[in-house]
Amino acid sequence: MIVKLVDVKDVFATNAYFYIDEQTKHGFLIDPAAEPETLLNIIRDNNWVIEKMLITHGHFDHLGAVEKLHQTLGIDYFAHQNTKDYLQQGELNLSAFCNRNICLTEAKYFNDEDEIILNANRNVLLKVIHTPGHTPDSVVFYDKNNHIAFVGDTIFKGSIGATEYPGGNPKHLQQSILQKIFALPKETVLYSGHSEPTTVGAEKSRYNI
Ligand SMILES: [Zn+2]
Repeated sequence: MIVKLVDVKDVFATNAYFYIDEQTKHGFLIDPAAEPETLLNIIRDNNWVIEKMLITHGHFDHLGAVEKLHQTLGIDYFAHQNTKDYLQQGELNLSAFCNRNICLTEAKYFNDEDEIILNANRNVLLKVIHTPGHTPDSVVFYDKNNHIAFVGDTIFKGSIGATEYPGGNPKHLQQSILQKIFALPKETVLYSGHSEPTTVGAEKSRYNI
């Protein structure tokens, strides 16, 4: 698999990730956060086919390029079933507080434990792990075969997600990290929304787990 981190910025710098099957050049774009032209150029330069956009949670700093890519390339975007209000309400996705107005109405939804399969190579798949806490709709996309997890804002290298925004819940965040993310094999690489990559083992060791 190819995992390409693209550090894009609007109000905040956020990591967008291309997750691409080397054989078929098809893949997914996870958290198209900002800078749609940057992302479009990367897709064109590499001759990649992006089958789906996948959203880790409905905060505006992870959504800024979704509409443009949806319109330009016709790619559908997918998020957890709890995310609908976040995608459509600026007070929840926080765009209203930053002079942005993000309202996404054409999302498709997945549930906990769904498998998102690449059409061009059905051996490539990401499992949805629902990890509420930072927001009620936060998820991890987990590639068991390649020991990769895209974790959004649930956990970062050296820190954990904020819970002070609407729908945040510290107890849920703790449960999600301890019972779901820390239950993954320790070599699993964690790709977060805002930090450098880390691993399950490295983060557990910080807490002497
Ligand atoms: Zn967030």
